[in-house]
Amino acid sequence: MRRSNVWNTGAYRRLGATNGKTYVIIDAHLHSSGHETTKDVLESLDRADIDFGVILAPFLTAPYSLLNRNSLRDGNRYLSKLIAGHADRLCGFAVVNPLHAEAPFDLEEAASLPGIRGLKMVPTGWYPYDDCAHRVYEVAARFNLPILFHSGIFIDGKSGRFCRPTFYEAVRDHPGLRVTLAHLGWPWCDEANAVGLIDRINGVEADASQFRFDISFGSPPAYRAETLRKALEVLGADLIQFGSDRFLPCPGEHIRSAIDDVSALFDELSVDAGARQRIMSGTAASWLGIGD
Ligand SMILES: [Zn+2]
Repeated sequence: MRRSNVWNTGAYRRLGATNGKTYVIIDAHLHSSGHETTKDVLESLDRADIDFGVILAPFLTAPYSLLNRNSLRDGNRYLSKLIAGHADRLCGFAVVNPLHAEAPFDLEEAASLPGIRGLKMVPTGWYPYDDCAHRVYEVAARFNLPILFHSGIFIDGKSGRFCRPTFYEAVRDHPGLRVTLAHLGWPWCDEANAVGLIDRINGVEADASQFRFDISFGSPPAYRAETLRKALEVLGADLIQFGSDRFLPCPGEHIRSAIDDVSALFDELSVDAGARQRIMSGTAASWLGIGD
């Protein structure tokens, strides 16, 4: 696998993993479109130097839609087949919509599919504290499925009003849940930091915290350094993880550019090697249960 020297350090330690595999870069936020092949995915990861990818079931590209329950079930099955046999490189996050009364059942169904290890949720038309969402959280907690939430504004014009970081405090009713808020909640990054800070104030170990935050960027470039600097100071690298938020199929170079953007910010902020390693793989490895 090609390794570029974006880290500007030869000293960082490779993460060990329980199966003996090591992870240097985990992309914890990659979208399936429903139109990629397994070969496409693995080639893109190789070209991007990504050791392990979290692939989200398709829900934004036709015929898959959050509004159509059966399309989501189809998408979850599609994803399971896409990643089958590649547990060393890939895991799948199912998608359900709590507005569908059968969503808890659909999640149970998805959790039984090979390779499905978590859940992606996108609040639109429901709030993260609604009863319908709690019914889904109960299943996620029972099956030990981490959840990746969209948080913050949407770039496609959907209303972001359902996705403010503080609304996700509802998951504290399910202490076993381990969730990630995407995009650092932008433009509500201060609010996201406040949510994540609570466990730190109370002395909860980072890996035991219910919240971590991905730095797939919702924010325009002008905000990114400040956003990351504050998150690092308030939350610490232990609660921050990398995700490219790229849509497959795409060239590995497209994913790689997200890594390079983050690397440039690390340089700008003088982030040390240990913190870089934690953000690029350690936080997600712990969250996914694949770290050492
Ligand atoms: Zn995304």
